[in-house]
Amino acid sequence: DRSGLMEDCLFCKIVKGELPSEKVLETDDVLAFQDIRPTAPVHVLLIPKKHIPSAHHIQPEDAELIGRIHLAAQQVAEKVGVAKDGYRLVTNIGFHGQQTVHHLHYHLVGGRQLQWPPG
Ligand code: 5GP
Ligand code: ZN
Repeated sequence: DRSGLMEDCLFCKIVKGELPSEKVLETDDVLAFQDIRPTAPVHVLLIPKKHIPSAHHIQPEDAELIGRIHLAAQQVAEKVGVAKDGYRLVTNIGFHGQQTVHHLHYHLVGGRQLQWPPG
């Protein structure tokens, strides 16, 4: 299931309220919600409400939107208490990147010392 069409897209359904999510922050064009399968004590997903398949599909007209996602990430980090100790903001792209949901999303993970480099 590539979910290339926004009608079939899991995260578009979350944006539309057709699927439930545990929201952390919402603005006019950005949504942050708890990852359903957290890999760290803190694991929040940040998405544009607009369907963009991945970071590789960002267009020049999306530049301000992407900036606003980063600003929202700062607010989320403050809200969930990881701003002081630090955290990771990461986006997976395509097959080798292990992207499984094809709607652009940034993982905000923290709450413990993370490993680097990733596998
Ligand atoms: P990816 O592997 O594409 O970078 O990340 C997709 C993320 O979405 C995974 O961390 C996965 O746990 C999360 N996820 C998948 N389905 C759902 C869902 O229905 N609700 C929520 N909140 N997270 C989901
Ligand atoms: Zn979507």
